[in-house]
Amino acid sequence: MTEGSYYTQVTIIGGGISGAALLFMLSRYTQIDSVTLFEKYNKPATLNSSAKANSQTLHIGDIETNYDFEKAKKVSASSSMVANFITHFNYEGTIGFRKPKMVLAVGEEEIAKLKARYETFKTLFPYLELWEEEVLESIEPILTKGRKEPILAMGAKDKISTVDFGKLSQTFIDLSQKEHCTVNLNFSTEVTQITKKWDKFLIHTDKGEYLSDVVVVDAGVHSLLLAHEMGYGEEYAMLPIGGSFYFAKTQLLNAKVYTMQNPKLPFAAVHGDPDLTADWRTRFGPTAFAMMTLERYHHMEILNLFDLLSLDGSVLGVYYDLMKDEDIRAYIMRNFAHELPGIGNEFFIKEVRKLIPSLNSDDIEYAEGYGGMRPQIIDKKAKKLLLGEAKIDTGKGIIFNMTPSPGASSCLGNAFEDAKILCDFLEVDLLKRKIKKELCDEKEYCYINRQPHR
Ligand SMILES: Cc1cc2nc3c(=O)[nH]c(=O)nc-3n(C[C@H](O)[C@H](O)[C@H](O)COP(=O)(O)OP(=O)(O)OC[C@H]3O[C@@H](n4cnc5c(N)ncnc54)[C@H](O)[C@@H]3O)c2cc1C
Repeated sequence: MTEGSYYTQVTIIGGGISGAALLFMLSRYTQIDSVTLFEKYNKPATLNSSAKANSQTLHIGDIETNYDFEKAKKVSASSSMVANFITHFNYEGTIGFRKPKMVLAVGEEEIAKLKARYETFKTLFPYLELWEEEVLESIEPILTKGRKEPILAMGAKDKISTVDFGKLSQTFIDLSQKEHCTVNLNFSTEVTQITKKWDKFLIHTDKGEYLSDVVVVDAGVHSLLLAHEMGYGEEYAMLPIGGSFYFAKTQLLNAKVYTMQNPKLPFAAVHGDPDLTADWRTRFGPTAFAMMTLERYHHMEILNLFDLLSLDGSVLGVYYDLMKDEDIRAYIMRNFAHELPGIGNEFFIKEVRKLIPSLNSDDIEYAEGYGGMRPQIIDKKAKKLLLGEAKIDTGKGIIFNMTPSPGASSCLGNAFEDAKILCDFLEVDLLKRKIKKELCDEKEYCYINRQPHR
């Protein structure tokens, strides 16, 4: 922002994939005149949206057995906007990659569950195929080598399954600057407080103050903190869950291979896939463990952490309910062991062997510098751990987004939701026809209608 210009129509706080997607959505698909983005680090997507922090998966809901039918329908409608963006704007091979993907059922019980799931989900994803062991041998032979139990996979060979969300964030920001809208980018600028001034919002930063008509807070773990400071979202607490990865020493898989979800466990099952930041070397993970920090590989922010944990009776009740389940207790202990320096691989190899039975603990190594934080939300009123994203729409021109997985896949869907709210509030046009043309595929569910738009 140039000196002297302290007013903007829209402020976005956070330059991860959520903030960047919203910036692109507002500048290209609305009649909004000016948008200002604040990002506290010196470039976009250095935290969870970095390709090193997340699993690089475009979640659709087709192979994610932790999603039920309704969730899969919603996520696929939203994430298809990212796939369509990649094809429409020619980013295949640079941001989005077509790699085979599958979910692997191991043993008779999982196979029966997968077959049943296929029957239901093929109506939503008609391209899904079931692959018996012989077929798998031609697609990913290493999955069958040395395996004693029967296996079956459900997957697709030619979908955009892998996305560099870091590069996508930068691209959204670059493209937004080519539009009619005035875009002010403020990197290395931390928003310290938001207050009301007249009918506007006063954005306090470490570089000065700015007035804005409306605000969207896409600050990852810090969104809830900024909400609490303004008296919003008091019904929510946060459980910061870290996720780490292990690398195989060589490239073993060409496909993304997910394992079947144990429905009792709160976090997605481990998978293995080729990593685009490491010459497609195979990466396994993520692990899931409570971590006393808000940003991975950054300092602890102890006061903010305690604010977000909100350790009152209802939150402790949620922890108690989680811990009293034997499967969840064992899962927490296992995940703790996966993080043990020097010997974590001895424990994690048991998870990996479900995917590749022939691997040994010295074939894998802890992926130093990889992994991120999942801001899992606890609903204090419902006394429940929420496993998806959460939005606080105050109805007063300020929105706060909390975006654990699949937040990166849903970035354009979420941006569209926010654009709709902001355009209504500001009484400006949202260019739905242009969105449909560029981001909605004729054959896919179109998010902007939430129904096929044929
Ligand atoms: C281990 C792991 C694996 C995952 N795998 C996947 C996956 O495969 N597919 C998928 O879709 N999703 C995945 N996710 C989730 C995905 O990474 C997140 O949903 C997504 O990156 C969230 O993006 P964001 O922009 O909302 O938040 P972030 O990427 O966290 O960005 C928030 C930004 O806000 C900035 N900020 C914070 N406070 C301030 C402030 N006060 N002032 C200015 N700036 C501020 C931060 O610096 C940061 O740049 C995974 C997450 C983890 C941890």
